Amino acid sequence: MSELVPITVARGDGIGPEIMDATLRVLQAAGARIAPEFIDIGEQQYLAGHSSGIAPEAWDSLRRTRVLLKGPITTPQGGGYKSLNVTIRKTLGLYANVRPCVSYAPFVRTLHPKMNLVIIRENEEDLYAGIEHRQTDEVYQCLKLITRPGCERIVRYAFEYARAHGRRKVTCMTKDNIMKMTDGLFHRVFDEIAPQYPEIETEHLIIDIGAARLATRPERFDVIVTPNLYGDILSDIAAELTGSVGLAPSANIGDHVAMFEAIHGSAPDIAGKGIANPSGLLLAAVMMLVHIGQPAVAETIHNAWLRTIEDGVHTAELHGTLSIGRPFGSMDFADAVIERLGQRPEQLAPVQYGTTPSAPGRAAGPRSAAANVPRRAPAAKALVGVDVFVHAAGVSADFLAGQLVALAVPPLGLQMITNRGVKVWPGGFPETFCTDHWRCRFVAAEATPVTHADIIALLQALVARGIDVIKTENLCTFDGERGFALGQGQ
Ligand code: ATP
Repeated sequence: MSELVPITVARGDGIGPEIMDATLRVLQAAGARIAPEFIDIGEQQYLAGHSSGIAPEAWDSLRRTRVLLKGPITTPQGGGYKSLNVTIRKTLGLYANVRPCVSYAPFVRTLHPKMNLVIIRENEEDLYAGIEHRQTDEVYQCLKLITRPGCERIVRYAFEYARAHGRRKVTCMTKDNIMKMTDGLFHRVFDEIAPQYPEIETEHLIIDIGAARLATRPERFDVIVTPNLYGDILSDIAAELTGSVGLAPSANIGDHVAMFEAIHGSAPDIAGKGIANPSGLLLAAVMMLVHIGQPAVAETIHNAWLRTIEDGVHTAELHGTLSIGRPFGSMDFADAVIERLGQRPEQLAPVQYGTTPSAPGRAAGPRSAAANVPRRAPAAKALVGVDVFVHAAGVSADFLAGQLVALAVPPLGLQMITNRGVKVWPGGFPETFCTDHWRCRFVAAEATPVTHADIIALLQALVARGIDVIKTENLCTFDGERGFALGQGQ
């Protein structure tokens, strides 16, 4: 028998310890070759003064084992507490969130009995960078950052996942009809990488229609890959559609560490009663076993679990007409799964992990492929102008333009002013509602080089005349290609 694989286990809060004990019991009975190291996270750690809910020494275990099986936690009420999940995700670079969403009809009530899809959400970028500013009395901004390596990594991960799990289609969802540069990059990278997986069907849907189709016809989807915010929303919609939020697992995968957990919370209302359903965490542990190269054990447990569900062995929240006897408690449910180890479901589709390569990064598999993102040679970058963002209340666009035209320092001249992205000068409409936040675009005549010193000279001239400059964005070309949007809808 091969060596035991060390894993870090955090029981968590609320129902966490109960469902973790039940899960580990099944893993042990199934012969999972794991050596758990326990760490404390969650409420007690927050209250002990660790603002992210994790003690500094717990990181050592995580770095050593590179795998975390995590119970749900409770974040104490009140301010000052950082999200543990966000901290772990960002600190350890867990760039891919993988959430299988499966219906188990008729045993779990759902409007979509044939649903079986996986959402792969980019986990680190997009609007989640936490770069937000109040810029004027009226205007706040949140920066949406999308990077080429980030897109390449997640898109490749999605295709590698699809290939490893025998999935036939990958759907990309973005809003690139509006966000042509950021979401446009994500879509473009998807189109670049897709031909390397000719056996996999691909499609792109605008996120709004994509979400609508997901809500009405989820069975048409297989693997969905999407940026962070859309993925956050889609994965909750999809889990809800299955009717089995309490059964859904999720994995957060990085190049160095991976974290596996149930998607539900710590359910304080039923904590300590021994009635919580351990299935979400158990299925997360199944994903973990595939990840650490024990797909046969994963398959045995998953199929036994499916058989348990279709045999009518249900915990209280699933209990219904197809359930046998009284609701099972967490440990009795685990024992029922253990009794069925070696059996396969007869009505629900059995799973097959036998040939799944050990997961992303641990050997040959999705993660290692995704990790090798080649960096491109830098483009020839040329400065061609600057957007100066100005705070000015109670002025008209024409008045502001008059001031700025007079203050412009050659070679830069005022080209246009927009307010909330709408062009208000030259040729604005009196009907356009204007705030106190103006984007003023200065460019040089074509082919006239612009330097950083030109921009500084312009800013000095503006500030000297009392213009409240909030920030600037340089306008550049990259290998001759425009690196900025022209404006609204262009
Ligand atoms: P959080 O903010 O941590 O997500 P929440 O209360 O919004 O907390 P959950 O903790 O997931 O969400 O609980 C939502 C409901 O689902 C609760 O009524 C809870 O009892 C129930 N629930 C959650 N997980 C389970 C489970 N594993 N077994 C049975 N019921 C559960």
